[in-house]
Amino acid sequence: MHITHIHHTDWQPPFCPNPNCRYHSHLQPGWPYKRIGYYTRRATPNRIRRFLCMACRRSFSCQTFAAEYWLKRPDILPQLMTKTCGGMANRQIARDLHVSPSTVDRQLQRLGRHCLLFHARQVDGMSSPSDITIDGFESFELSQYYPFHFHLAVDNDTGLFLSFTDSPLRRKGRMTGYQKRRRLELEDLHGRPDPKAVRKDVQELLEIVTEGAERMTIRSDDHRSYPHAMRGLPCEITHLVTSSKERRTRSNPLFEINLLDLFIRHSSGGHMRETIAWPKRRNASALRLAIFLVWRNWVNWRWQKRCRGTPAMLAGLCDRALTAAEIVRRRLFPSQVDLPRRWAEYYRGEVETPALGVNLRHELKYAM
Ligand SMILES: [Zn+2]
Repeated sequence: MHITHIHHTDWQPPFCPNPNCRYHSHLQPGWPYKRIGYYTRRATPNRIRRFLCMACRRSFSCQTFAAEYWLKRPDILPQLMTKTCGGMANRQIARDLHVSPSTVDRQLQRLGRHCLLFHARQVDGMSSPSDITIDGFESFELSQYYPFHFHLAVDNDTGLFLSFTDSPLRRKGRMTGYQKRRRLELEDLHGRPDPKAVRKDVQELLEIVTEGAERMTIRSDDHRSYPHAMRGLPCEITHLVTSSKERRTRSNPLFEINLLDLFIRHSSGGHMRETIAWPKRRNASALRLAIFLVWRNWVNWRWQKRCRGTPAMLAGLCDRALTAAEIVRRRLFPSQVDLPRRWAEYYRGEVETPALGVNLRHELKYAM
């Protein structure tokens, strides 16, 4: 954690923010830059110091290194984390903060992208867990005709929420005659989800969480795609299967993931049963889940009673609980963080919801 605040007069920029400059890397010594005065803005602090990189001639300011770079309301970002993880839906947050719902949508996406980078950077180099549980968390996007699964992985020893991927699914379960016909019509229009999606996406999740491991115990329910997804992984796997019909008590071997499922439903407005705030787009939902993941791992105690350690503390990644403000204190540059392939797609907004027609991507050049 950096101690000097970026607005402090002692603060020095650590590297050139231009990703194309050779001084963008932390490791390049002797970076030539100079101070070039100030600019003023409405939000406090009003005077912001400016700098110039003498190598690439790009000018920047201390704000360039803040997560709230280019935002008119820099106070919103840290508040969004606690509000969105406290179960509030976007419009409720907008009313509460006196901003428009589109501001909340936009800033939530920025916060989600920041959280993808934050988690990936913090767990970089972490020794791989030895005993994990995976599970599918079911939700839907746009309407109940478009269900999808988030595949979650959690470390059983520390409760650390390790990673997630997602898969679109075909609507199943009890349906009326009308619903069956409507499903066919929609599938003609937008295509049917890949029937092998679960296997592929769980495999992608396992590739992320088993990286660097020699052996690992993976607990799961009896989903028939899981054994296929585990084939070909470069580490020795012991697969422990527990029927999904088993009672979900503390003695259930899948306790840790059942708890995480409950916690996600309890904390995110979009995943509560019978909600009217369901996700409209899977990509945005993944960004919100990334916010939840960081909050769960770094801010929140592992157990609410008789525990004063966050999952990140228990995993040895951090020596105290962080606040939301600390998490968004410093801007993270995607050019400096290695994101897993699927997470890079979430970052760029590339996971499409075909029924929406228009799927905006994240292509801003200077903003994060
Ligand atoms: Zn430069």
